[in-house]
Amino acid sequence: MGVLRHEPMKPETNLLRELPSVDRVMSHPAAAPLLERFSRPFVTETLRDLIDELRQAIKAGHGLPSDRLQDESIITDLEKKLARAARPGMVRVVNASGTILHTNLGRALLSEAAAEAASLAARHPVNLEFDLHRGKRGQREDAIESLLRELTGAEAAAVVNNNAAAVLLGLNSLAEGKHVIVSRGELIEIGGSFRIPEVMAKSGAVLREVGTTNRTHPRDYAEAIDENTGLLLKVHTSNYRVVGFAAEVELKDLVAIGREREVPVMEDLGSGALVDLSKLGLPREPLVAERVAMGADVVTFSGDKILGGPQAGLVAGTQGWIERMNRNPLKRALRCDKLTLAALEATLRSYVQSPELLNEIPTLRAFSRPLGEITEGGRRVLPLLRDRLGPDYEVELVESTCQIGSGALPTEEIPSKGIAVSGRGMTAEDVARVFRGAEPSVIGRINSDRFILDLRSAGDPESLVPNLPDRQRPL
Ligand SMILES: *Cc1c(COP(=O)(O)O)cnc(C)c1O
Repeated sequence: MGVLRHEPMKPETNLLRELPSVDRVMSHPAAAPLLERFSRPFVTETLRDLIDELRQAIKAGHGLPSDRLQDESIITDLEKKLARAARPGMVRVVNASGTILHTNLGRALLSEAAAEAASLAARHPVNLEFDLHRGKRGQREDAIESLLRELTGAEAAAVVNNNAAAVLLGLNSLAEGKHVIVSRGELIEIGGSFRIPEVMAKSGAVLREVGTTNRTHPRDYAEAIDENTGLLLKVHTSNYRVVGFAAEVELKDLVAIGREREVPVMEDLGSGALVDLSKLGLPREPLVAERVAMGADVVTFSGDKILGGPQAGLVAGTQGWIERMNRNPLKRALRCDKLTLAALEATLRSYVQSPELLNEIPTLRAFSRPLGEITEGGRRVLPLLRDRLGPDYEVELVESTCQIGSGALPTEEIPSKGIAVSGRGMTAEDVARVFRGAEPSVIGRINSDRFILDLRSAGDPESLVPNLPDRQRPL
């Protein structure tokens, strides 16, 4: 028999006892509407987490007012927590970063026609592999192939998941078990994980490097060709330039060597352009049609870089080699889905048929929008920004420059305008965080300690006025 001890009860213990059970909150009438919006297990789990958080907060000595623990109050918190958890992981953002094709922000935006086509293919059955004329099975890439042939002048064309897939498929189809000759100046790495030597190894082809980092000559290729050679590969050094004492072998010279020695030539063009960017006052990016005309057997390029379509790897080339790629079992693993094919077809159709191409394709529109129009948009939005941000912030129209991004024309910049935003007592990083916290998030960039919203990459200037959420109720 022990001695009865009376300890004074801690205030936490009191509060802990007031915490309701999951069952009690779930059967409260105010919880019923939540179960019409969300599944029961989702609501129960979220409620369990919420009660757990409150318990932890009490134990940590946060003096919670006891009305926070009443069922109605908990249900209000639960509703907010559910709404937060139900928010999709992938959300809309505003790209004011100054990089038009930002890989982290999803690269090219689709044209209205392309988005519409993808939406249609998502909602309805489509004749993806069905020939409506003959009433029989058809080919899934027919429409795209004929558009690509028209746009590039190639005999044949194919499409896969992305340009990395196109390179992999090309190497495997043309040169598995054989040597592929590449200049040391072109052994590129593209952001993240695309590296020529590694893709080559995975394709089952053997890399045969020639030349040096800064200079490679025609004889380097010619001397390296032997009975094991399966392919000459040229890679567009899309995200860097070798300047100074440098020499590369032009595609037409490589094609001449390949023809003479009966070895096919493939070019990984990276971005590849279907229209001449120099007509927009931009530096020139190689045109796919030109590379095909120079005699490359296979040219690969991306759908969502300068072209301005969905993620895809496009392949243009000679009938025999494209057929070989299409027959490769890897093709099935790398093929595009119907949403991509629908969006890509609509994009390519604009290139062939639209009288308003530059306006229709958002990427081309971003490249070509006149600086005057951008400045005007900036002036229009300045007072709106001032209004929204209040007296603790200062905004100012400044000069800015845009990059194309995604490795295209890495050393070139397009003139633009920006809005510099500074906040009293705030670092540029603090301001960036405020804009990231807006709905939708506004992504700017920091330039020599200033937060800048770039008007060219953002498109609609009004999208720069941040929708700032109310402060969340702290626990
Ligand atoms: C961007 C790029 C790739 C990769 O293309 P994805 O479409 O992103 O797969 C490959 N090669 C070059 C030269 C590139 O510029």
